[in-house]
Amino acid sequence: MSAPRSIVVQTAEAVRKGERTAVEVCEESLARIERHDGALNAFLYVDREGALEAARRVDEARAKGEPLGPLAGVTIAIKDNLCTRGVPTSCASKILEGWRPPYDADSVERLRAAGAVLVGKTNLDEFAMGSSTENSAFGPVKNPWDLSRVPGGSSGGSAAAVAAGLSQASLGSDTGGSVRQPGAFCGVTAVKPTYGRVSRYGLIAFASSLDQVGPFTKSVRDAARLMEVIAGHDPRDATSLEREVPRYEAACDEPAKGLRVGVVRSQVEAVEDAEVRAAMDATLDALRDAGATLVDVELPHAKYAVSVYYLVATAEASSNLARFDGVRYGLRVSRDDLVEMVEETRAQGFGPEVKRRIMLGTYALSAGYYDAFYLKAQKVRTLIRRDYDAAFEVCDVVLSPTTPTPAFEFGARTHDPLAMYLADIFTLPPSLAGLPAFSTPCGLTKGGLPVGVQLTGRPFDEATLFRASAAIEARLGLGEHEARAFLGDKA
Ligand code: GLN
Repeated sequence: MSAPRSIVVQTAEAVRKGERTAVEVCEESLARIERHDGALNAFLYVDREGALEAARRVDEARAKGEPLGPLAGVTIAIKDNLCTRGVPTSCASKILEGWRPPYDADSVERLRAAGAVLVGKTNLDEFAMGSSTENSAFGPVKNPWDLSRVPGGSSGGSAAAVAAGLSQASLGSDTGGSVRQPGAFCGVTAVKPTYGRVSRYGLIAFASSLDQVGPFTKSVRDAARLMEVIAGHDPRDATSLEREVPRYEAACDEPAKGLRVGVVRSQVEAVEDAEVRAAMDATLDALRDAGATLVDVELPHAKYAVSVYYLVATAEASSNLARFDGVRYGLRVSRDDLVEMVEETRAQGFGPEVKRRIMLGTYALSAGYYDAFYLKAQKVRTLIRRDYDAAFEVCDVVLSPTTPTPAFEFGARTHDPLAMYLADIFTLPPSLAGLPAFSTPCGLTKGGLPVGVQLTGRPFDEATLFRASAAIEARLGLGEHEARAFLGDKA
């Protein structure tokens, strides 16, 4: 195995030096989307004109000798729950079909200001609720490594777009694993920042105490470059914190020697899939080889994470999704009576999983059940956070698998919501604790499916996660298999 090329960093460099034009890079991405997205369904909207115009502006700025941003000419796809000014934003829901936001999300604004070329909006589970993209109202996304399998979710389109080289990077959102889990299934680097690190202004809210925006890239260094751009305080998001953004790229060059890695033994051992287990063993060997020290840690309350998450997240979703009433955005099913109009719009506009969550959340918040369910879940959430505090007394990074299995087949879990929810069993605890967590590719199964390892850090210590991920990538990166990342390329 070998580290993949850092195409984001290299492209920005080549455009700055004039070795490539931004328009060339953009056309290449648009051509790949044209050629392959029929099979993948990663995009809900391709902004051909907007992308070419942005690329032209980069080339003009260069011609005039103006300074270029750190992402000059880099093609980026945006999950379709992030607002893009004048560009359709649907959350893969019929209820928002055709809606064009009047403003850009903060992270989108920052990408544009850094010279990035936004090529389009990617497919997802409706309102980011799901683990496979099978909940999209516009059809599922295919996993580029094996078209009969899911790409993970909910940011499946963003993960698949990068894995298949349709864009050089992408943004997703992660509430309980939606960046890390598809990152693992599609063999790309996936970053969920600390809660408060990246502004959610313009991210359509699912569960506000959990939602974070994060990047997908082919290499760890590329993710560091994106994080340097999108992280930072934004007064428009009350949960965004004023903390200095470190040089993440520099952290990728720091040797892992001396790093203390806490292995969540019970989670590693809970994995039944022999190939995921083997990839975990290889990762631990790689870290040892890089000079890291391994210690065992335990997260005694992590086993409650699925229950806690599906109370907290659904409660928050039931409140957040109340705004889709047929009056303000998107779909309106016309009826003479206002209440009927709202009811019918919501009945027709929301898919079954979204309705399930709204009902579960409403129930958990209702009088008589609030204390028994919602309040109790909040208390257990605090215990999960304390488990991490204890773990970080003895280590700098907590390691677990990202997912219990590699990408599963379409339809394998759609009949059983609980089986689907269990796909996030390892990604939920860091979300509930508000901690930064990455998924880094760490191997392939014999059948050629990627496996990811999850690294969780102290609050605002993404830098250490970049350092540890870079060490894993250097030894276990999928670089030499990159070409296999999209089977359609063989044709
Ligand atoms: N799969 C989880 C869910 O369905 C997480 C989704 C997410 O992170 N947006 O809620």
